[in-house]
Amino acid sequence: MKYCCTRNSSEVVSAPQAIAQGISGDGGLFVPQSLPQYTQSDLAALAHCTYQERAVKILADFLPEFTREELEACAAAAYAPEKFSGGNPAPLSLQQEGELSMYLLELWHGPTCAFKDMALQLLPHLLTRSLQKTGEGKEAVILTATSGDTGKAALEGFRDVPGTKILVFYPEHGVSDMQKCQMAVQEGENVSVCAIEGNFDDAQTGVKQIFTDPAVKARLAERGMMFSSANSINWGRLLPQIVYYFSAYCDLMQTGELEAPGEKINIVVPTGNFGNILAAYYAREMGLPVHRLVCASNANNVLTEFLRTGVYDRNRPFHATISPSMDILVSSNLERLLYHMTGGDSGRVAGWMQQLNRTGRYQVDGAALARIQELFWAGCCGDSETKEAIRTLFQTERYLCDTHTAVAVNVYGQYVKETGDSRTPTVVVSTASPYKFAPSVLEAITGQPASGDEFAQVDELAALTGAPVPEPILRLRDKKVRFTGRCAKDGMAQAVLAMLG
Ligand SMILES: *Cc1c(COP(=O)(O)O)cnc(C)c1O
Repeated sequence: MKYCCTRNSSEVVSAPQAIAQGISGDGGLFVPQSLPQYTQSDLAALAHCTYQERAVKILADFLPEFTREELEACAAAAYAPEKFSGGNPAPLSLQQEGELSMYLLELWHGPTCAFKDMALQLLPHLLTRSLQKTGEGKEAVILTATSGDTGKAALEGFRDVPGTKILVFYPEHGVSDMQKCQMAVQEGENVSVCAIEGNFDDAQTGVKQIFTDPAVKARLAERGMMFSSANSINWGRLLPQIVYYFSAYCDLMQTGELEAPGEKINIVVPTGNFGNILAAYYAREMGLPVHRLVCASNANNVLTEFLRTGVYDRNRPFHATISPSMDILVSSNLERLLYHMTGGDSGRVAGWMQQLNRTGRYQVDGAALARIQELFWAGCCGDSETKEAIRTLFQTERYLCDTHTAVAVNVYGQYVKETGDSRTPTVVVSTASPYKFAPSVLEAITGQPASGDEFAQVDELAALTGAPVPEPILRLRDKKVRFTGRCAKDGMAQAVLAMLG
């Protein structure tokens, strides 16, 4: 199993290289050259396994340089039952809404209460072992720009992992109070957090500049260190996400929810950077019986337009919504889909990416669009529909979902209405705990603007709905604030060097 670059398919690397490097030198992303195939009997065998065992089996197919013992150790560390409330990292919860029945795949029972934990609990183990295998033997410095969820999940995943240091930059006014609190109290000897005076794009641009700054790189090399990335451009973050789609299907088989072996399901994913839904696409290509992949967006609906028309155009206003983790105009992982949809035509992909850089826009050809539309259906909704989805699901089922999941619930309703496909069993991916976005969820339920601080809002929401508050959120209250630092946009390189001492 080798990986090649989406912008130059003759650049071929091993799995440890792809993970250690994160991104190709030309800005392209690494994709698997072929995919393992799972038959119905493979699925039946997987169905009898635990989540960790399912993970080891699937990881092994993609990481031939890792021994079975290594993968077992990685999975045991990442998905230990005590790290996930209830012990199951990815439980399914059946909910009816009117005529519809959907299975909510809850991926937020981990340490930071968002689905990013599913990958970021595992990535540090894959990354440190990859660095050993590629012979770099250097200490990895993980630089991360976050709009909220990735930063905390990366901090929690890398905390006290030997051979790593992690530094997270977040926009001073661009994250929720709860997200800020989660990062400010982060524990661990190798972690650091810094607010920047700017927005998420400034943070992201600053990080990219530091990554490629030869002077900073040289200073790092003198100390036996190198930069690495924990963003979803890294194959090591995408791969763990394939596992939970298989796991969800296996759970449906185990509980007798499927009528016939091989029955197809739909998967609905609230989407931002296109990483999570791309993992579902890979699962489908590996033989998981999937009918449609439904891409749900908020008011930043650049993907809805693309999947419907073949035109990707980021020249549009940026909307700050109540589902902020999906407020993205450039969805990096779409590049990987384009590569596969053109049958691996890296020249064409490179051309589109160049156009995107230069003009903010590109249009794929009819053949590629037709292939995309066979697999994907796309829809979007605004904040008021999002709140309505939260309210309706709570009123009819007493089930409380977060704002991102609510976008997916709304778009699934649109899908059924437009296509008439109400029969296919459907897994809707639930990406965050409602308590991470308590003010918006409260507002959806009560119809009134929320007041009080983030903990008062959590209490009010719990009293009103009876939904259990996740332990990691309860525990935040008593933690000491460790990080209050902030820096200017152009002071980020200094901040990095200061942190490294
Ligand atoms: C990151 C995130 C998303 C978007 O996932 P992508 O893989 O970027 O498409 C959706 N919901 C939540 C809660 C997130 O944190």
